[in-house]
Amino acid sequence: MELNVQQAVDWMISVNEKIQEQKDYLSQLDRAIGDGDHGINMARGFQEVANTLPNDEFEEVSDVLKKTAKIVMSKVGGASGPLYGTAFLKMSMASKGSNVDGETFAKMVEAAVEGLKQRGKSKEGEKTMIDVWSPLLDDLKEASEIDGEKIRQAVHSAMEATKDMVATKGRAAYLKERSKDHLDPGSVSSYYIFEALAETLEKG
Ligand code: ADP
Ligand code: MG
Repeated sequence: MELNVQQAVDWMISVNEKIQEQKDYLSQLDRAIGDGDHGINMARGFQEVANTLPNDEFEEVSDVLKKTAKIVMSKVGGASGPLYGTAFLKMSMASKGSNVDGETFAKMVEAAVEGLKQRGKSKEGEKTMIDVWSPLLDDLKEASEIDGEKIRQAVHSAMEATKDMVATKGRAAYLKERSKDHLDPGSVSSYYIFEALAETLEKG
């Protein structure tokens, strides 16, 4: 199975729907261990993505992701805007000129993880969105297909695992041990991004 251009656009529209639905929940998670704006940040950026993409023409999936990256970078704000902007830009670059099959998708996520680490000066286990993207990459390396259900399972358990982590990056790091027993907001929004992809793939 491959992800085509129309599906890439549908994916981003579906991300926006989820983010709008979960806007208050994402901000509530961020109120517990951050400054309470993650839902607002994401909702502002992805609404703009969803408004823009259907009016544009794209040659390939890479172009959809590039446009998304630009909007996210300029509209989301906070720490997460530049981080997600980087992740989408790296996915765009890694898919340029390729059909997005399982192998390419793994390369895209690999490039995104590298970009997130560089941009965030962070690594796995610091209770950030990297803790969803990196375990997903580990699972993708084993699969040759893009499999929606596998993606969903990988990101769901990775998101849940951030609850037990102590934050050492981002605002939550100020709380030290008290950041424990809370989900990381950016990991939850990352979960929605990949849940939306899984659903888009399953629609065919
Ligand atoms: P801000 O922290 O500036 O208010 P947001 O609330 O929108 O920005 O985003 C917070 C999320 O960003 C965190 O939950 C975490 O997942 C992610 N994040 C913050 N700092 C980093 C970092 N240095 N590396 C990776 N991810 C980070
Ligand atoms: Mg915040």
